[in-house]
Formats: sequence, structure tokens, C-alpha cells
Amino acid sequence: MNSNENINFDSFDREHLWHPYTSTINPLPTYKVKKAEGCRIYLEDDTELIDGMSSWWCAIHGYNHSVLNKAIENQLKSMSHIMFGGLTHQPAIDLGKLLLGILPDEMQHIFYADSGSVAVEVALKMAVQYQHSQGKKEKTNFVTIRSGYHGDTWNAMSVCDPVTGMHSLFGSSLPVRFFAPSPQSRFGGEWLPADIEPLKNIIENHHHEIAGLILEPVVQGAGGIRFYHPQYLIEASELCKKYGLVLIFDEIATGFGRTGKLFAYEHAGIVPDIMCIGKALTGGYMTFSAVVTNEKIAHGISSASPGVFMHGPTFMGNPLACAVAKASLELLLSSGWKEKVEMIERQMKIELAPAKECPEVEDVRVLGAIGVIEMKKEVDMAYLQKRFVEEGIWVRPFGKLVYIMPPFIITAEELSKITSSLLKIIMN
Ligand code: PMP
Repeated sequence: MNSNENINFDSFDREHLWHPYTSTINPLPTYKVKKAEGCRIYLEDDTELIDGMSSWWCAIHGYNHSVLNKAIENQLKSMSHIMFGGLTHQPAIDLGKLLLGILPDEMQHIFYADSGSVAVEVALKMAVQYQHSQGKKEKTNFVTIRSGYHGDTWNAMSVCDPVTGMHSLFGSSLPVRFFAPSPQSRFGGEWLPADIEPLKNIIENHHHEIAGLILEPVVQGAGGIRFYHPQYLIEASELCKKYGLVLIFDEIATGFGRTGKLFAYEHAGIVPDIMCIGKALTGGYMTFSAVVTNEKIAHGISSASPGVFMHGPTFMGNPLACAVAKASLELLLSSGWKEKVEMIERQMKIELAPAKECPEVEDVRVLGAIGVIEMKKEVDMAYLQKRFVEEGIWVRPFGKLVYIMPPFIITAEELSKITSSLLKIIMN
């Protein structure tokens, strides 16, 4: 049954529960989910939707996975939470060992945090504290590129795109950062050397006040789902080395196979000083993130006053999250994820290509398990959402973007259903 007429939008939810980026006066409808399993989302009235979103990059193994359920159930039997100050536990240690095995060799220090945005806050603090430890107390600001997105907390927000982000609204209460234009050289296209010049100019002129550069490597996510040339990262890394900037890669969206590599930095072959990971870290089961760094940063911070890193969230290293993250990682590494992502990529390239013929479509692009149809104008989200649900697919567009990032377990038939429904509705 796939008709919105039969869906009862919950009145309590509508009146009292604030959803992401919504009005309390005129909220868009929210569809009530009864359960989710594999690649399917079941609404309260039994409407069945094929999931094209992985719940915003997270649910890479699909929903209600027996292995991940078991990991949480087992962990629950011993403890769901214990403070990380002065105490430790096996799930945190096991996950740490697994992470060190898949991260660059240089990354030897792991700070567990609660969410992506908090990981970004932690990374920015690490960079400033590192500079402080080196006697560079004036190096407290940051440089980044436009069209970025790093989260909704204060400092994360300050390094989001100043136009599509919330800078105009929060105005002078936000720290003012340095922004270079986002690279024009596309992933898989020609490298345009002029791309790096604006960043170079900013760093050359302001390095004495800049602690670090933060970038989403290769894929800019919520700021526009743009895929840019890895050479930009190589050149940016050289500038950071030359001018003593800490290089931070935000791999919160790109990590764990989504771009066709386990981490997106691998497309460029260069290693940052600090990496933020989150989202798919727990297979989409729980909010959790980690900030990983090298010895230079960690020991630098630790060897200068006050001799400690100044952060420590209450739910740091939560055992349930560590246990499910470990299970999710083991599942990923043993699942042939690379072939699956390549299959998804190949199929999306073929099946989304006809959208290019549509006069309302600006661009169609695919990288790894990310497929994007960029429209020329902003889409009518409420209308499209309703039509997608009627077609039996879960795809949530924003701005000019209609995009899909399905769970890696999606079958070719399920993916075809999503792509054909998208094309049918968009090209109508
Ligand atoms: N960085 C990036 C690249 C993201 O895509 C997101 C979330 N969309 C965040 C940070 C923030 O993560 P969270 O929503 O878990 O705070």
C-alpha cells in the first residue's frame, strides 16, 4: 500500500516534537516508522519504502541487523555505560585496536566523542591546544573552503559554508573564519592549478593567526554534495606543512567505504594530522564518533601546560557504542564492501545518466555509493517527499539536490526501483 492518503500524521509529533530544520508552526509532514529491516522502512500503515538514504550516511549494513543487535544485547548484559574518566573497558580497547588497523599508521591516538559535531569541536580544540603547546598562542583561527559542512554546534557551524550555513542568522556571535572558494576541479576531471591559489594566498598572508585547515576530503557533503579533485588535498597538505597549520580531515560522512575507499583521504594518498570519524562508525546504531591524531599533535599537547587535553564528555567511550562499532567494522571488513560499493556506483552511473537529458537538471554525478541529481532550481521538498513515498522509496532531497546513498546491502533490483522512481518523478 503506497498512498499518502492512508498515512496518519501523528498530531502529538506535529505539535510538540521539533524535527531537524523545521518550523513548529508549519512543519512538513513526518512519516511514522513502525520498523526498519535490511533496506526497508515500514511505516505505521504498512507502507513499505526502499531506503535510499542510509539514515544520512550511517546505516551501511541496513537496519535491524542480527550481528549488530547481538553485539548490543551482549554488551547490555555486562554494562551499558561507565564513565571513561579513570576507568576503561574491553569494548573501548577492542574498537581502538580495530581502528588503528584500518587508519593510517601515523594515527596512534584516539579520542572517543559523542557525535560528529562534537568530534569537529574536539578536533578544532586539539589544533588550537597544539599550537598553544608550541608557543604559537596567536594561532587560534581556522581556514576552510566554501560549500563545506561540519555540523551544527557553534565552532562546527563557524567553518560551514557562510552562505548556505547559518552565518547570516547567527552573525557576529560566530567566530569569523577564513574561507577560500571551493575547488572547481572535479573529481575524475582535469586538475586546474589555479584552484589552490586562493587558499595559498590566505595561508601566506594569515598563517601567523591560523591554527589549522579543516576539509571534508574529496566529497563535500551537506554543503552541496560536490566531488572535487584529490590534488587539492595534496597541495593543501603541502601548504599546511610549510606554514605550520594543523590539517584536519572531517571524514564523518565519507568514512567507512562510502566514496569507494575505506576513507576518502586515500584518494589523495596524503595523511592529515587529525581525522574525525562518526556516522557509519556504529553502522548507524548509535550516536558516536572519534577523533584520531598522530604523535606530534598528541604529545605536543601533552608535553606543555596544562599537560592534558581539555575535553571529556560524559558519554565518552560509551561501551554499547564501542561494542556495536566494533561489530559493524568487523562486518564491513568481512563483507566485500568494496565490490558492493563498486557495483552500486556502476549501476547508479548507468541508471541516473538519463536525468542529464532533463532540462530542469543541472548535473548528475556519482562517486562510490553516492548518487546526486542536482536540479537548476530548489526542489519542492514536501511535494517530492510525498511522491517518493507514493512510489515506495525513501529519498529526502534538500535545496537543489536529490541524492541517494543507499545501504551497501541494497540489491540491484532495489536500487533500480529507487533510480527508476527518481527519474520518473523528476522527469515528469
Ligand atoms: N561533519 C560532516 C562532514 C557531516 O556530514 C556531519 C553530519 N551531517 C557532521 C560533521 C555532524 O555530525 P552530527 O550530525 O553527528 O553532529
